[in-house]
Order: sequence, then structure tokens, then C-alpha cells
Amino acid sequence: AQAEIGLIGLGVMGSNLALNIAEKGNRIAVFNRTVEATRKFYADAGELQSQIVPCETIEEFVAAIRPPRPIIIMIKAGEAVDQQMELLKPYLETNDIMIDAGNANFRDTMRRFDNLKDSGLTFIGMGVSGGEEGARHGPSIMVGGRQESWKRVEKVLTSIAAKFDGVPCVDWLGENGAGHFVKTIHNGIEYADMQMIAEIYGILRDGLKMGATEIGEVFGEWNRGRLNSYLIEITEKVLKAADPITGRPIVDLILDKAGQKGTGKWSVIEAQNMGVPATGIEAAVAARSISSMKDEREAAEKVLGLPNVGEFRVADKAAFLKDLESALLASKIGAYAQGFAVMSAASREFNWNLPMPTIAKIWRAGCIIRSQFLDEITTAFTKDPDVANLIVTPAFARMVKESDGALRRVVSAAALGGLPVPALASALGYFDSYRRGRGTANLIQAQRDFFGAHGFDRIDGEDAHHGPWGSGLSA
Ligand code: NDP
Repeated sequence: AQAEIGLIGLGVMGSNLALNIAEKGNRIAVFNRTVEATRKFYADAGELQSQIVPCETIEEFVAAIRPPRPIIIMIKAGEAVDQQMELLKPYLETNDIMIDAGNANFRDTMRRFDNLKDSGLTFIGMGVSGGEEGARHGPSIMVGGRQESWKRVEKVLTSIAAKFDGVPCVDWLGENGAGHFVKTIHNGIEYADMQMIAEIYGILRDGLKMGATEIGEVFGEWNRGRLNSYLIEITEKVLKAADPITGRPIVDLILDKAGQKGTGKWSVIEAQNMGVPATGIEAAVAARSISSMKDEREAAEKVLGLPNVGEFRVADKAAFLKDLESALLASKIGAYAQGFAVMSAASREFNWNLPMPTIAKIWRAGCIIRSQFLDEITTAFTKDPDVANLIVTPAFARMVKESDGALRRVVSAAALGGLPVPALASALGYFDSYRRGRGTANLIQAQRDFFGAHGFDRIDGEDAHHGPWGSGLSA
């Protein structure tokens, strides 16, 4: 029998995805640029071999798939994808579907989608989250492209996706770049979530002077409460893991320089392009950049020293730990609210009609930011899909109000203790600015009008569009 689907790229993600597809009873043809990888993959596939058609040439590969052929391309993002698509194209027929499942920039996806417009071929840009484990046993999948193309792959993708209470974490989210855009924002939120966790870890380690294992206990306890999520769960595991060589906690031996591949930065750029604040993601991207300036930081510590603030003191440790838990929840709400606000602006900008409740729904399982919390977001957006911001939905407004004091106390304690909490502080700044009906931009408007005659609107509706800054006013 012909294969139901094809997959190119048997690297970490591609081989796991292919095994997942085969295991769910879908016959799959596979191809990899380097033939040895294909052979090794097939040799290691065990009893799944019967569902796999290993191919060493593109001709053989294309012929093995049932038309219209859906072909997943799971290779290094960027130019490699364009090259692979060019190599594949001559062998394809009308209605065949090339599916880029890597971490593409959605602008590349839009370009690829448009380039194929008159070719009879179609294109899907598909975000896949969940890392290696997710790919193997159930990722969260964000699909963008033509709805007819989605219909051709819906069954296979539904069979391999993660399930939350039996509901598959995959859906069609809109035309062209919609899937990759949503995946990008997913990663941006992931950056913020991880940074906020790291800042709380910093307060526990450098403020309360707790050891890694003890901090692991704290995260473990939080994982049984409102913060229950994959990222908190792995934080506990990571903090409790020992280095096999020295026996010391492994985190204490890891260099404090974080890598980044671009999706966080893209989230911030797109947010800025649309004029939507995404301060949590911005803070997280900036924090990774500062982290990578290790030499400069060490040199600066020699010149400036650590802040001269004396000992970090809290009156009641148990109460402070409760505050940290609530502060983390609050700042997380801020980052997710911002991420969803960016998506709703993009939905208008690119005419995608992105379904917010569906996005929250397919993030509940499979992906890196999966959590109980996303189920609550799903409920909030289902009740009110067009709300301006998550934080004004009744459930989240309540949570923001309840955790407000804790976030303030934690950010203040960190500031007074000289500990950097840029992402937590950004959340507080965001809430305090967003909830204030009368801000301070009246002064900025006056300054802009003063030096650049930019004009301003008046609160009383009177139409004096310029201020009385004329001669005789300035000192
Ligand atoms: P790997 O490095 O494990 O594999 C890379 C694959 O790309 C190999 O199959 C390689 O083939 C192929 N490749 C590279 N360049 C070319 C080219 N010019 N033409 C054809 N094939 C090429 O990567 P991953 O599996 O980790 O990542 C694949 C994609 O998935 C990336 O876009 C990544 O961002 C994304 N992703 C990764 C996640 C992860 O957790 N790792 C999570 C979610 C998405 P060859 O064997 O011939 O070198």
C-alpha cells in the first residue's frame, strides 16, 4: 500500500515525528539528505518497520506516497528549507502539499506560500512544539495554510498530537503564516515563562541562600498547586539532579550563558512592529542577551561590585515563599496576556482570524508551556473570545487582584536586595500602566508639541491643538 504521508529530515525532531506517525497506524515514507541517517533510522525502527518506507532517492520517495501527497519537511530552518523545496518541486504533482514543520519565521512561510500560489502545489507552515519527547509521543501542532490542505492531513495529525482530556492538541489556525506565527509567540511566551522562573530561582539562591535541592523542593510543591505545569515540573527535576562526576547539583556547574535561536526575538520584533507591548518577552530576550555577555559581566562586577545593600532579609520565610508563588503566577499572567494580545493584533494585521480559545486549547498539552493554567485561559477566551486583554476577563482580573500585593512585595524585596528581576518587574509595570485610566503621556504630548509642534488632543474636547509655548514662556 502507498504511504499516507511523507517526511524529509531524519534529525532529532523528524525521526521522532516519523516514529510517532508510524506508531499511530499511518504508513509513512521517509527520506534524508544523508542516506546513512535513513538506513540507521529504519534499522532502529523495530516493529514499526512495517509502517515505514525508507527511501534513498527523491523519485522513490515521492512515488511511495498516495496523492495528493502531504510531505513534511523537518529540517534545519532557513535556507535549507528553500533548497529542499526546490529539489522536491520537479517531482511533485498538482495539489501535493509541502509542509514545513521546522521553526520557520512566519514571514518566510508567507513568502513560500505565495511563491507556490500559481504552481498548483500548496504549502502548510506548521509549528510543532514539545521537543524530542513531544515529537515522539504527542506534540502540540499549530497549522497554517489552505483549509483544503489541512483536510488532507487532519486525520494523521490528529492521530499523533498530544491529547488533553482526550481533546487533540492540533488545529488549523488560519491561512499562510498563521501556524508559524502562533508557534513563534508560543516560544516567546516560553522565553518569558522560563525567565520568570529563573528570576524566582535567583531570589531563592542569592537572596534566601537556599541550595539547589532545597529550591527543587519548593518548585515541586508549587507544581502541585496553581503553578502546575511542565516547566515547573522540569525545574524541580533539573534542580534535584546531581552531577555524576562531582556529586554536586548539576545546575551549580552549568555556565550561566543562555542560548537563543530567534523565536523570542521574532516575537518581540513583531510585537513592536504592531505597537503591542510584550514587555515580559522583551525582558526575557534581553536577559538571555545579557547572560551571554559573561566576560563583560564579570569585568563589570570587578568595577562596580555587587549592589551595596547588606543582607537580604525577610521577616517570615514561609509567607515570603507564598508571595514568590503568587508573584510568579501574576507575572506569568502578564506574559500570556501580552502574547495573546500580540496574536490578536497580528490576526487583524494579516487577516488570519486567529481563534484565541483554540490556540489556548491546543497549548494545554504536548507543548513546552503546557499547564493547568492554559485550561483556565481556554475557558476565559471561550466565554469572551473578543476581549481586549486576558487580564480583564473576570477570572484573570480576580487572579491579578489577588496576587497584586505579592508581586509588589517580591519585586520590592528583589530591588532592595540588589537582585535582578527584569521580567517580574516588567509584569508589575505592565499591570500598573494598563489599569491606570489617566497616565502620564499628557506630559510627553506637551514635550512633543513643544519641540516638534506635533500637536495634542485635549481632555475637554476643546480644539487647541498646540500649547502656549510661545515667546515669553520659557525661562
Ligand atoms: P537536527 O539538527 O537534529 O536535524 C537537522 C536535519 O536537517 C537533518 O535531517 C539534516 O540532514 C537536515 N538538513 C540540514 N540542512 C539541510 C539541507 N540543506 N537540505 C536538506 N536537509 C538538511 O535538527 P532538529 O530535528 O532539532 O530540528 C529540525 C527543525 O525542527 C528545526 O527547524 C528546529 O528549529 C525545529 N524544532 C526543533 C525542536 C527541538 O526541540 N529540537 C522543537 C521544535 C522545532 P542531514 O542528516 O543530511 O544533515
